[in-house]
Amino acid sequence: MPELPEVETIRRTLSRLIVGRTIDRTAVTLGRMIQHPKDVAQFCVMLEGQTVRHIGRRGKYLCILLDDYTLVSHLRMEGRYGLYSGADPVEKHTHVIFYFRDGTELRYRDVRQFGTMHLFPAGEERRHPPLRDLGLEPLDSSFTLEEFRRRLQNRPTKIKPLLLNQKYVAGIGNIYADEALFLSGIHPERTADSLSDAEWEKLHEAVIRTLREAVEAGGSSIKSYVNGQGEMGRFQQQLRVYGRKEQPCYRCGGPIEKTVVGGRGTHICPRCQPKEAGESEHQEVCG
Ligand code: ZN
Repeated sequence: MPELPEVETIRRTLSRLIVGRTIDRTAVTLGRMIQHPKDVAQFCVMLEGQTVRHIGRRGKYLCILLDDYTLVSHLRMEGRYGLYSGADPVEKHTHVIFYFRDGTELRYRDVRQFGTMHLFPAGEERRHPPLRDLGLEPLDSSFTLEEFRRRLQNRPTKIKPLLLNQKYVAGIGNIYADEALFLSGIHPERTADSLSDAEWEKLHEAVIRTLREAVEAGGSSIKSYVNGQGEMGRFQQQLRVYGRKEQPCYRCGGPIEKTVVGGRGTHICPRCQPKEAGESEHQEVCG
């Protein structure tokens, strides 16, 4: 599933491709993808004549701002946008096509069919689910150490599932949770209420640094993720623990282990991320 850095990369690519284009009509072949309004015909009518003004992002959601409406799109597992000319053959698993007046088409393909679209009058999108229920935006100035701690620190719950829970912090998924926990030297099964002041500070910094570096690299390209123009993100080569099972830790040289935490595959260095608080021999966070 694309996480914040991948969605941000798609946002930037799509901005270059579709801002300024006007929708003539829309075709939907998988009605259940359209979550709001429930009536797909109404969804299509609302989009007629709307020009794409800006593309924003909230957590893992793309927010396509039109003249009068905002289209909130979540790609889930395999959703993918592409800009085509009308002459290009329509690929299998294309479920939504936005036909622009200039003859180009924005097509949404989704092999797994888990993606969702919500269309709201402009400005109302943040007052309704799914955006209403999202937590802090980690690359925003509102993501302060104080606010991060306030939301999580008293919970007797494992830290990794808390990082993955979009209602506390939006945009972090399995890859970047593992990366941030490794960078801060915190075992994913430590409970939030067991973290020290210094650990909260390291974790807060690690979340920002991990996501920022990944955004700069254009995201990771685990499995089939390819961004809007078909380039592979470069962050995969920079991953410190994720996907590196049995390979040497960049910091201590010991083998990276893969385990399961909260039902999710999890990569850790057991030496650099001790299960008991205060056990780490290392003070410096690796670079
Ligand atoms: Zn290590």
